[in-house]
Amino acid sequence: MKRVVVKVGTHVLSENNRLCKERILNLVEFLVALMQKHEVILVSSGAVAAGHSLLKLDKNLLHNRQAIAAVGQPQLMATYNKKLEKFGKNGAQLLLTADDFDSRKRCYHAKCTIDTLLQNGILPIINENDATATEELVFGDNDQLSSRVAYYFGADMLVLLSDIDGYYDKDPHQYEDAKMRKVVHAIEPSELEVEKAAHYAFATGGIATKLKAAHFLLEHRKSMFIASGFDLSDVKSFMLEGVHKGGTLFTCENR
Ligand code: ADP
Repeated sequence: MKRVVVKVGTHVLSENNRLCKERILNLVEFLVALMQKHEVILVSSGAVAAGHSLLKLDKNLLHNRQAIAAVGQPQLMATYNKKLEKFGKNGAQLLLTADDFDSRKRCYHAKCTIDTLLQNGILPIINENDATATEELVFGDNDQLSSRVAYYFGADMLVLLSDIDGYYDKDPHQYEDAKMRKVVHAIEPSELEVEKAAHYAFATGGIATKLKAAHFLLEHRKSMFIASGFDLSDVKSFMLEGVHKGGTLFTCENR
């Protein structure tokens, strides 16, 4: 069974500064279907969006965002578990930081935990530990974290579910004639220099962090797929039926 990491961004998980329960249910339904075919690990943002309705602090201040995330993380997990229960499944929380991957010991222990959870049909749900690390809270929205999760925890593919339905030759929000790239075999250094373009209140990633994640994975001979997290039809047809209709696949195969 192949191991797959699915990462979902803040913008997909939230609507009007709070969690969007309907989209989370759709996501969980997809994850449960994917769990029939693969071992699935979820990397989920959304703690700040989940906490903001309970702790209304100015989220422009980093310490406030950390506190809001601490309030929101259990809310986020409760929402996931409520939805998972509808399908007879359970989720488990793992809060990690980039430093955990620098330590062979910590990385090994985390992988053993993940392996055991997967063997027992539990969905591991990973987020950055925002109280001790701020990297993804400031810039990245878990794009980097999910690429490390995929590589160090032995996944074959990372699936990024984003507000954008794929990787375009230029920003589709700025250029009407932007064309989606269906398959990408390598990331050019110039592509890694694009400005971050996160225009939403809670999103922090932008395409640059996604390309960095893809670059890291391609260098380690892993694949990545970007598709819409709003309309899951492309990711469903690719991951569940093996038909590549929409979305961008980053792969080092068939060059
Ligand atoms: P998420 O919240 O899902 O992590 P972000 O909003 O942070 O996603 O990043 C995706 C955004 O990056 C898109 O909405 C788009 O405006 C922008 N972007 C810039 N250049 C590109 C490109 N070449 N292809 C796709 N999206 C791009």
